[in-house]
Amino acid sequence: LELRMKEFNQPLSGNDMPRFGGIASMFRLPVQADAAGLDVALVGVPLDIGTSNRTGSRYGPREIRSESVLVRPYGMATRAAPFDSFQVADVGDVPLNTYSLEKSIDIIEAHFDTLLASGAKTIAMGGDHTVALPILRAQHKVHGKMALVHVDAHSDTNDSMFGEPITHGTIFRRAIEENLVDPTRMFQIGLRATGYAAEDFDWARERGVRVVPAEECWYKSLGPLMDEVRQAIGPDRPVYLSFDIDGLDPSVAPGTGTPEPGGLVTSQGLEIIRGLYGLNVIGCDLVEVSPTYDPSGNTALLAANLIFEMLCCLPGCQRRS
Ligand code: MN
Ligand code: MN
Repeated sequence: LELRMKEFNQPLSGNDMPRFGGIASMFRLPVQADAAGLDVALVGVPLDIGTSNRTGSRYGPREIRSESVLVRPYGMATRAAPFDSFQVADVGDVPLNTYSLEKSIDIIEAHFDTLLASGAKTIAMGGDHTVALPILRAQHKVHGKMALVHVDAHSDTNDSMFGEPITHGTIFRRAIEENLVDPTRMFQIGLRATGYAAEDFDWARERGVRVVPAEECWYKSLGPLMDEVRQAIGPDRPVYLSFDIDGLDPSVAPGTGTPEPGGLVTSQGLEIIRGLYGLNVIGCDLVEVSPTYDPSGNTALLAANLIFEMLCCLPGCQRRS
């Protein structure tokens, strides 16, 4: 353990610098300009020009970093030790063009191409959900067609919005059409509320996606669902996790652009991510945190903790006995 701690970056301890002091990098880790030498790169994608209702998720990465100062290095329930297992750093934000969604999509893809070329895995902090499409495009070049676990209130499989093919509500339609993901190994968890048409979630179902509406999750543990997910995906197939914070209920995650009542509770969000341990998780994103609507900071704090759990679900993350 001693040796590993010398070998790998460690979060700045709350006993060396007060948690409210110092530079608010993600998990108080060192910041570096690229992903050289990293097992996992934590990267911000501060884009919110793909959103359809409330804006503000451009501030997501900054606030998630700010709230992440409270996250400590060990998971007490899982005994996971991500910073003894992986070299992790904060690689800053994608320098997108906030005047052009189209250009930003290409900038994000190229940025992830470069990060992935270093051999690092990426955990992305949004930004609105549009960012998942260029990330999946980059991941696909490395890993081929992926299984996908998608937590969200929304299916994000609209054909277009205002005639635009790429928005935060159309990305998974594009991802399936472009063969980036395998819809028969795709799970959409937490879908609910109102749609443009009564059949909105059926486009995905008709392509073999396992749609798990929020109502199917109410009042119960998602442990059995995650058993099903692990069974269907298997230990070797590359799987990507895309976690829209609005999959959780607005009572626990109010700071988001398109909140929908009746969502998942915090413990279910934790069960989903922890339930991926043992799979070949190749990358993750946490999107749609809008600090503008998050006066208590609870949504960003929750997001930081969910991102810690993402680190802990990556293959090779050791558990202390
Ligand atoms: Mn979404
Ligand atoms: Mn959503």
